[in-house]
Amino acid sequence: MGWDEIKKARRRLSREQGTVIKDWGGRIPIALVYPNSYYVGMSNLGLHAIYSLLNSYSEVVCERAFWEIDSRDKQLPSLCLESQRPLSDFAVLAFSISYELDYFNVVHILKASGVPLYSADRDERHPLVIAGGPCIIANPLPLSPFFDCLCIGEAEPIIPAMLPIIAGGISGKRSDLLKALASLPGIYIPQYYSGKPVVRQWAADLDNFPVASAILTSDTELGNLYLIEVERGCNWGCRFCLVSQAFRPMRYRSIDNLISQAELGLKYRKRLGLVGAAVSDHPQLEELLLKLGQMGAELSVSSLRVSPLSRIVLRELAKGGARTIALAPEAGSQRLRQVIKKGISEGDILEAMDKVAEQGIKQVKLYFMIGLPSETEEDIEEIINLSLNCKGILDRWQTGCRLVLSISPFVPKAGTPFQWLPMTQPSILNHRLSLLKNSLMPKGIKLKCESPAWSQVQGVLARGDIKLAEVLANMEEVSLSGWRKTVEKCHLDIDFYVHQRWDTDQRLPWGMLDLGTKPAHLKLELDRALAQR
Ligand code: SF4
Repeated sequence: MGWDEIKKARRRLSREQGTVIKDWGGRIPIALVYPNSYYVGMSNLGLHAIYSLLNSYSEVVCERAFWEIDSRDKQLPSLCLESQRPLSDFAVLAFSISYELDYFNVVHILKASGVPLYSADRDERHPLVIAGGPCIIANPLPLSPFFDCLCIGEAEPIIPAMLPIIAGGISGKRSDLLKALASLPGIYIPQYYSGKPVVRQWAADLDNFPVASAILTSDTELGNLYLIEVERGCNWGCRFCLVSQAFRPMRYRSIDNLISQAELGLKYRKRLGLVGAAVSDHPQLEELLLKLGQMGAELSVSSLRVSPLSRIVLRELAKGGARTIALAPEAGSQRLRQVIKKGISEGDILEAMDKVAEQGIKQVKLYFMIGLPSETEEDIEEIINLSLNCKGILDRWQTGCRLVLSISPFVPKAGTPFQWLPMTQPSILNHRLSLLKNSLMPKGIKLKCESPAWSQVQGVLARGDIKLAEVLANMEEVSLSGWRKTVEKCHLDIDFYVHQRWDTDQRLPWGMLDLGTKPAHLKLELDRALAQR
C-alpha cells in the first residue's frame, strides 16, 4: 500500500464532516465501493443513503472506497478511506453501480484488490462480493460472474433482511451462506437461482428512511449543497426511461420529514439541493419551497418537468438563488415526443422558457436525445428550430439567461418498453451531432454532447448477457480501441447487442427479473410508440 495513497485518504477525511469512524472489534466490516472517483461518487445520494443505513447497525462498520484514474494508471489497489485498509481485509464488498461504463472500473478494482475476480474462484477466505444499484436492478447479467450476490431493488428493504444472514454465515461455508441469501426476496445468485422470478424490492414508506447528505465535503461536484431526496420514482412513464420502471411506484416524502432534514442540513450548508426524478411532481412542492425560503435556505433542484411548471415554484427557486433550471424536452418534434410518451408540447416548452426567464434565472439547460426510435433528420431540424425559438424567448427578456443543450444518444435500457429496439449507428449519430453543433453553436447556444462511440459501448453493456463478462475481464486497456480488440478476441457480435431489433417473444437475458411491470404491458407501450411513426 503506497504511503501517498494513505496520505491522500487522510487528507480527504480531514476535509469531511459526518464521517463515521468505528472500531472494527466484533463488527462486520463492509466496504461500500463506488466504482468511480471520489469527486463523482460523493455527489451520489444513493451512496450516502447506504453508508448511513449500514452504519446505523451497531454490528456493522461500513467504510467507503472509490476508483481513481491514477490508481488504474499506477495499478494501485483501492483502499477504504476511513481506516485506509485494503479491500481484501473486509468481510463484505458492497458495490453500488449506477452507470454501465463503470463496469470496467468494477473489474479493475477487483483485480487490483487481490480478491479473485470470479465468484466461482472465491470461498470463505475471501470477502463476500455483492452489488446493487440501478444497473444491477435493470440487468445484472454482464457482471453476474464477478459477484456472489446481486441485489434487485432498493437497499432499505434488502439490507435488513441480508444482515442477519451475513452475520450468521460469513465465517461458515460460503456455499451455505449463498444458499441462505438466495432464498431472500430480491436476491439473485445465479448458481442458486430457483427458476422463480426475482421480484424487485422497494421501500413502502420513505419517511422511515430519510435520505440526505451523510458526509459533507467540498471535494465533490455538488459540494456546496446539502442534498435531500424529496421523492423516488416517476409516474410519467416515458418509454425509454429506466427510472420510471426500476423505482416504481412513485413515492413522496412528507413535508414534515423534509423540513426536519432541511433544518439539519442548514447547520452545514446554506444551499439545499432537492433531489428527485421530477421534483416539480411533489404535490406539496410550493408549500415546501415557501417554508424553506422562510428558513433562509438557498435552493437548487435536480430537475423539473417542463409541464406542469409552477410560477410559484420558479419564483421561490429564484429567490433561493437557483442559478440553473434543467428541463428535458428530450426530442425536438411533437411526433417524436409522442413516440417516447413525453407528454409535453412545443407550447409547453416555450412557455417554460418565458416563466424561467421572467424570474431572472441565469441558465437553462435542456436535455435532448438523438437516435430515438424512428428519428430522421427532420426531427434534428426540429431540435434546431426549437432551441433557436427558446433562445429567442430568453434573449427577449434581456436578463442574460444562457441556453445550454445536453445531447446524449438514445441507449435502449433493459426493463423499459424500448428494450427490444436497436440503437442508431454511431456514424449517423455523429452526423446528427454535427448538424446540431454547426447550426446552434454559432448562435451562442452551448452544447454538451456524449460520445456516440462510448454510448454504443454503453448500449452493449445495457442489453448484454453473461458473454460480456469475458470481454470485461479481458480488457487490457480501457479505451475504444481496447474495447474493439477485446470484442474481436472474444468473438462478440456487437451488432446483435445494439443494432438489431429483438423479437418481443424472444427470451431476454434479464428475463428472470420481475421489476413490477408485466412484459405484456411493456409490449403494448412499444406498439403504441411504433404506431406514432
Ligand atoms: S419524466 Fe423523467 S424521470 Fe419521469 S419517466 Fe420521464 S424521463 Fe423518466
